[in-house]
Formats: sequence, C-alpha cells, structure tokens
Amino acid sequence: MDLDDFDSLYISTGISLYMLFSAVADTFEKMENTTKRLELTDLLVNLLRSADEDLPLLVYLVEGKLGPDYLGIETQMSDKLIIKALSMASNISEEDISKDYAKVGDIGTIAREIAEKRSLKPLVQEEITVKYIHDTLMRMARSSGSGSTKARIDAYMDLFLNSTPKEIMYITRIITGKLRIGISDATILDAIVKAFADEKYAEDIENAFNFHPDLGYIASELKKGNIDDILKLGPTPMIPFKVMLAERLRSVEEILDKMGGKCAFEYKYDGMRTETHIEKGKVRLFSRGNEETTDQFPDITKAASETFKVESAILDGEAVPYDPDTGELYPFQVISHRRGRKYDLDKVSSEIPITVFLFDIVYLNGKDLSKTPYSERRRVLESLFNESDSFRLAKRIESGDPAEVHRFFNSAIEDGCEGLVAKSTSPDSFYKAGARGWLWIKLKRDYQAQLWDTLDLTVVGAFYGHGRRKGTYGALLLATYNDKNDTFETVCKLGSGFSDDVLFSLPKRFENYVSKEKPARVISNLEPDVWFYPSVVMEVIGAEITVSPIHTCAYGEIEKDSGLSVRFPRFTGKWRDDKKPEDSTTSREILEMYKEQKKTITEEKS
Ligand code: ATP
Repeated sequence: MDLDDFDSLYISTGISLYMLFSAVADTFEKMENTTKRLELTDLLVNLLRSADEDLPLLVYLVEGKLGPDYLGIETQMSDKLIIKALSMASNISEEDISKDYAKVGDIGTIAREIAEKRSLKPLVQEEITVKYIHDTLMRMARSSGSGSTKARIDAYMDLFLNSTPKEIMYITRIITGKLRIGISDATILDAIVKAFADEKYAEDIENAFNFHPDLGYIASELKKGNIDDILKLGPTPMIPFKVMLAERLRSVEEILDKMGGKCAFEYKYDGMRTETHIEKGKVRLFSRGNEETTDQFPDITKAASETFKVESAILDGEAVPYDPDTGELYPFQVISHRRGRKYDLDKVSSEIPITVFLFDIVYLNGKDLSKTPYSERRRVLESLFNESDSFRLAKRIESGDPAEVHRFFNSAIEDGCEGLVAKSTSPDSFYKAGARGWLWIKLKRDYQAQLWDTLDLTVVGAFYGHGRRKGTYGALLLATYNDKNDTFETVCKLGSGFSDDVLFSLPKRFENYVSKEKPARVISNLEPDVWFYPSVVMEVIGAEITVSPIHTCAYGEIEKDSGLSVRFPRFTGKWRDDKKPEDSTTSREILEMYKEQKKTITEEKS
C-alpha cells in the first residue's frame, strides 16, 4: 500500500468547497429503498453533480472505499474495535453490543441504534462533510505502530459524536467495507458519464476505466472537461488494468471455425492471474481483482527485477505453484494459502515455488502495445527475456489442423493444465482490457467429460429449510450477471452439493448481505424468504440448460415469457472469493451455452 500515492493524486489539489455528508446519507437511504436500477442511477447523478472539488472523495465513499482498489487502503477497523468504541461512547457493555450485533447482523444498524439513545455531545460540533469523513478514515488507515488502536478508536468516537444516527450508520458500514446499497462500479460509471460527459463517449470512457480502474480520478477529470485525456488512457505501469477474458466453445473444430480456420493455441494454466508491472527497477504484482499481491510473492518480485532488463513493462500471465522435486504443476488451491499470509513467506516460497507463465505484454518502455496484434505482442514477449524457474512463456502452437490441436490439448492435460486458450491471430487481435470476447476462446476438459463448464453464480436470495434442514437454508437463489443492463437475473435454486458444515453455516455466511427488500439490480419472478445484496459468488455445476417459465436469465431470448435455467445444479464446494458479483457467468454466456447444447443434441440425433 502506498498512501503517499493517494496524497499526490488528490489532497494536494486544495479542495475548497465541501459537500455535507447528510446529503450523501439521504441519497444512500433513498438508494437502499429503491427497487429500480434506473432510479439508482438518477439518484447518483444528482449526488455527483452537487459535489465540487471533493468529487473524487465522494465517489470513493459511494463505492464504500477510500481510494481505488489498487492502493489497497484499509481503515484497519475491525467489527470488534467498533464495538469497543461504541461501548466507550455509550456505557453499554461490549458483551451486550456483541449480542445485539449477532441478532441484527449489521454493525451499522447497531451504531445507529446506540447513537439514537446517546446523551454525550462533543464540546465543539464539527461539520460532517465528505472531506472531513474521508480525512478521518484516512487517519485510521494511516495509523500504525503502538498507540494505533487507540488512535483508530478515537477517530471513530470523533465521527460518532459529530454525526447524526443515520450518518454514523453509513459511515460505520463504509469503515467495515459493507455499505450494502447495492451499486456496482458499472452503475457508478454510468452515473458519472451521465453527470459529466456526452453519452456518445460512454463506451470509450468504459474502455479507459478498464485500463485505469479509478472512478474518482475519471469522475474528476470528466468534471473538469478533460475528456481528451480520459480517452487517451491506456495501460500505465504500476496501475493494474482489468484483464482480458475468454469466451468458451466445446470443440477444437468449432474454435477453428470461429477463428477463420487457423489460430494460436496456448496451454490454459490453472493458477492465479497475475499482472507484473515493472518501472525503473521497481516491481509490483496485481491479481485479477486488481489487488496488489507483491508482498505475497517476494520470490517472483525479486526474480522479475533480475529477469527483465527494461525501463518499464506490463506483463500478463498465470502464477502456478509446482513441486520443486518433480517440476509437476500443482492445482491453484495450493497458492491460495499464500493469501494474507504475513509470516514465513520465505519458507513457503521455497516449499511451494511458483512459476509465472507469461502469455501477454501490453506495455514496453513507454509504448502502449494494447493495440498491437497478438502475434506481434507475443514476438515482443519472446524476445524480452530468458526463461527461468520463475518466469516462463505459456506453451503454444499455431495450427489449423484439428488432429494436431487435439494432440496439443492432450499434452496440456497431461502437463497439469485445464485445457487450451485459443487466440486469434487476426490483424485486429488487440488486447481488450476487461472484455470477454471471441478473440480468446477457452477449451476445457470439463466440456468434453461433462455436458459443459462450471458456472460462477451470484447468490441473491434463500429459502428457509424444513425437516432436516430446519434452522438453515434449504436452497439458495442464484443469478447470472446481465452485463448489458448491469442486473442480476435468476437462473436456478441450489440445494445440493453442500456438506453439513457448509449447509448449517449458510445463515451466518450470508448475514451481512441480507436486504429487507429485493435489491434494485436483482430481476426475479420468485420471492425467496430472504433477499441478499449480490455479493457472494459460488461455483456450480449442472446437468443442462433448459427453457424456464420461472427464471429471468436471458428472458424472452429463446421463448416469449420464458428465461433459461440450470437443471440439477450442484455446488462444487468452491466459493469464488476471487470474483466480484459482476465477474459471474453472464446471462449472455448461458444463452450461448444453451445454443451450443441444442446444436450438439441436434447433431447427435442426425
Ligand atoms: P475459469 O473459471 O474457467 O478459469 P474464468 O472466468 O476464471 O474462467 P476465463 O476468462 O473464462 O476466466 O478463462 C481464462 C482464464 O484462464 C484467465 O483469466 C487466466 O487466469 C487463465 N489462463 C491460463 N492460461 C492462460 C493463457 N495461456 N491465456 C489466457 N488466459 C489463461
């Protein structure tokens, strides 16, 4: 984390006019109570328009953050610490507050209830502005070393005493990262465009955001009228971008057909997507979710500065653990242990070393390569370094011969990979940040053994269990993401694949996401017993996709008044904590899979 980066970006601009937080809290309340997505955007547009130079700070607070993800700014304020501060401010014991919290499940609501009853007032009442709150939360984030816990509690007390009950509820939710107003970056970006730009640039601005995922920055530049600068945004060293993703097909033949007869095929490594950024001897690594992972991989970081003799570069690849004795690749789960691990990293690094298999380069020595065709980018990548245990090139062939590709697929599986990623070699095979498109097509083993791929679905509701499942949920309501409308469309009810432990811990796992009403971005004909804000993504396997009169996924696309649903869904046991709800399988993908499946059935019959 580099908090100085944040200062240099914004604070030094000398903010002059401050927006009152009460306006923000009122808007949040309205947003929580609306069930319509368009209304969410309109409310946001009005709020953003009323900001001044504090606009970026407002945008971060609306995102429920203090800055862009890649700066990794955390308030470091746990629920436990908040309970301690609330106890100090109210004379209610920590134990009683904890009990209430366990019942209610939202620390923000608890703070509000306590604030409603408080008698303590500060000597001098501060104006609760957006800037004041952001400053105070940054103070929390900055505090370190001895006395830092006290400093954080003091900062929270300060906010508690100076704000209204409604305000402290939202502030507390922001602090704990659970704002729960149900808006995504896509909705916020939409509102930013509506508020400050000509809508004809909407797509270009989204593109810029994919390379520079900082909504505060984009909002403030657009407000200043700097659309040209925004349109010029491309890959920038040390700023993570949203990675390019692949479509899926089920056979080599279909892929070759789609790719015009010939293309490149690369091993699909089963690891952790990793961006390697290098600039003036410094190295930073980022995950697919744009979190900085440099500290988790000291071995890779060190190797990168030794391997790449460049002024600056941005590389894309997959980090895969391997057995140092046999060289055999391990499955991805093995490195998830490194996440959040502070100690013993050196030991872990030598026990479970990692290779980053590089498959792309988007920036080199001051030059943006994202609009250079894939084959040329690959050539640049190949000439850039000598392979070592830490960095290798993704194995690849170029072919139009199905038999040869089948053999390559089999060797990928034998070598511990998931299958292949086909890559277009056409002149317009550019690097499309944040896009899932047909320039890359994945072919996985699952598609051949089973009917199709696993799905990553977002949980939007639950039904109470009966009989043996009394006291927990009997089924979860799952949804796909409609990336066109920024909504979640239901696709199945899931009740199998749970171990007893997981099953009975479901209410606890979801307690922080409960919504009184259907969240605005959820599209559903079903009324579950409990609604959830789209937050948790889980991996599901199913038997087939069928037309459904109940579910809303791809509604009306195949048949009038019907959507699509997954039949016999089963939880694979994998919570996709690395994915945001907006990274779930999309409704469009389900539609494609339905069409593919239908084609196969027809082919088999004839
Ligand atoms: P899955 O769960 O199937 O990995 P996903 O949604 O996580 O799917 P996809 O875009 O569908 O991601 O599949 C591509 C993923 O495969 C990439 O995100 C990347 O992490 C991984 N991958 C492994 N090898 C390659 C490669 N050679 N080229 C591109 N991506 C690769």
